[in-house]
Amino acid sequence: MAARCAMHDYVFDKTKRRYCYLRERGRCFYCGKRLNMKNATLDHYLPKTAGGPDSVYDLVLCCRSCNRQKGDAVPEDWQQHVIDSFCRAVADGALPLPPGSREKVLQAVAQGVQRVTLEGELVRFDGAQFSLYADSHRLVRAVYRPGFSQAQ
Ligand SMILES: [Zn+2]
Repeated sequence: MAARCAMHDYVFDKTKRRYCYLRERGRCFYCGKRLNMKNATLDHYLPKTAGGPDSVYDLVLCCRSCNRQKGDAVPEDWQQHVIDSFCRAVADGALPLPPGSREKVLQAVAQGVQRVTLEGELVRFDGAQFSLYADSHRLVRAVYRPGFSQAQ
């Protein structure tokens, strides 16, 4: 596999930062303080040390002081938070999807993600009839079980 170049990471980080800034409406996720792009930081809601991915569905915009204060604490509701942020990122078009899969993935997310599991480099989102696998940058794979229906 080709090594990712620094420029690639830089562009992704900038995009993620901008997305989180807009999603949080320029305010600290924790204390609500108004931030600008310069004093805003990104915090892993599920800490990196606990396996939190560098993804918009785990990153939140916050002020330096809240970021420092939170440290490596694992929030009790991290699973629900990551699921909600993942569904939102898919709906917002902030998570690149496999070509031609948009309709079906949106349908899956609308049916409800019930569980999130960390699987090494991948994060797995399960619904009753589907599994979506994401890495930090994109949705990598979607698996639909026989009962999955696009009609609703
Ligand atoms: Zn704050």
